[in-house]
Amino acid sequence: METTTLEQIAGQIKKCTLCPLAQGRTHAVPGEGNPHAELLFIGEGPGQKEDESGRPFVGAAGKFLEQMLTAINLKREDVFISNVVKCRPPDNRDPLPNEVETCTTHYLFKQVELINPKLIITLGRHSMHRFLPEEFKISEVHGKPFRRHGRVYLPLYHPAAALYTGSMRPLQIKDMQRVPLILKKLKNQAS
Ligand code: SF4
Repeated sequence: METTTLEQIAGQIKKCTLCPLAQGRTHAVPGEGNPHAELLFIGEGPGQKEDESGRPFVGAAGKFLEQMLTAINLKREDVFISNVVKCRPPDNRDPLPNEVETCTTHYLFKQVELINPKLIITLGRHSMHRFLPEEFKISEVHGKPFRRHGRVYLPLYHPAAALYTGSMRPLQIKDMQRVPLILKKLKNQAS
């Protein structure tokens, strides 16, 4: 059976009209980064800058995400960064459940399988709830890893939280600084 590649999935996303979000987009944003990354970051959806450029996390929240990565000696090229929906919701509204369902089923889950990361880091509650129970409150579970269906998830606050509330920054950096130890434990368990 022929294997679909990340590039082929990106090509499908750029032409996709499977949900209403296709109508308002300038560019779909498939995601980018190291195709063999140990860390896969999943945000909510593209914002204005991402819609304009076709790249994920390139606005102010993206800059803070890069700072968070610097705190663990990584650059954005070392990881893979994507979103639960690949097209910008109008007026930055939350993506609707059917949009999330359609986009993740057709694209994100395939990206996860191909990249096969050691750790999936969800950014914000929409991303977290696609993989972890709806009952989870991000204020209670951020920075704690969870194993579900053979994969390990680490819910973090969305980097944009620090833009609205500056006092969140140290907490978000501290959560990110847990990542190397979590990865080390996962590798030890696997060996
Ligand atoms: S959000 Fe996803 S499912 Fe909807 S049009 Fe864009 S790529 Fe297709």
